[in-house]
Amino acid sequence: MKGRPVTGRRAVHQAGKCGPPGRYFPYMPSSEPLLGGVPIWGLLCLLGLLGATIGRWSGALAPLFAQIPNLETSVTVGPAPGSRPERRPGPGNGVRPACCPRCNKSARLAKFAPLPTPLTCAHCGASFRAPPVLVWTMAGAFVVAGVACLLQDRLHDLPALLWFIMLAVPLTAIDIRVLRLPTPVIVRAYPGALFLLTTAILLTHRAETGEIAWGEAGRHGAQALVAMLCSVALYWLLWRINPRGIGYGDVRLSGLTGLYIGWAAGPIAVLPAAFVTFLVFIVSTVAVMLISGTRKRIFPLGPAILVVTLLLAMVTP
Ligand SMILES: [Zn+2]
Repeated sequence: MKGRPVTGRRAVHQAGKCGPPGRYFPYMPSSEPLLGGVPIWGLLCLLGLLGATIGRWSGALAPLFAQIPNLETSVTVGPAPGSRPERRPGPGNGVRPACCPRCNKSARLAKFAPLPTPLTCAHCGASFRAPPVLVWTMAGAFVVAGVACLLQDRLHDLPALLWFIMLAVPLTAIDIRVLRLPTPVIVRAYPGALFLLTTAILLTHRAETGEIAWGEAGRHGAQALVAMLCSVALYWLLWRINPRGIGYGDVRLSGLTGLYIGWAAGPIAVLPAAFVTFLVFIVSTVAVMLISGTRKRIFPLGPAILVVTLLLAMVTP
């Protein structure tokens, strides 16, 4: 006597395509089509390849920014008769603008993306190459973001997360290397982030019928903007209180990270996120001091802000 016909996922497993018969592994890569006939493993491979490609491009930003002594960029004011010359930080504030590492002449960045373009120096023809560690980190981060979005069934948020990773990886490398967050790089990330987050919000609040719930979407967008303002206000205040501990680059970056935090968890999350950021900063600083045995090094805050924001945006639906 024949039982009820087996259909759906169970039929796939019983056909021996994924795991032993009758058992169900919800997140195991399988040959089951996911999006337009693309299986999960294929999607993750594509994300890895995309990450490596973008990593080769945006990672090339890192060698373009190098530290130069403050005196070289400082401006001598005065001197008034009988007084000592006064030195103030110059426009470079210790970091030269994006420059070719070989000929030291200026390198161009894309207008609306934190990317160098072209990838060769217009003056000496040298190629701008990304350090391999940044290429691999970018590829890995793209795959992790893809897995996080798949597990939470929020693939429409993936482009906004990838945009943030594209900025975060080279910016972390630059901040660790020269202890600065270059303004041209941060500023160029804002338009893309605003566009991709708006798209993600609209897709999130699209009803099953395909209609967009404009009221809900507007509230969600307003929450992200309020969080951005709160985050900038908080870091600006901290910068005013302790300008030696927090750089103004951190304040500029806090607007973007606040936007992502507000999008993921609302303005209420800005304060706990800042608290976790400082906790991560202190723990990582102590760990590096213990491992390297040095106490005099200055550590950047930027990487902690970027990592905490990215993790929050990835795990909070
Ligand atoms: Zn050059």
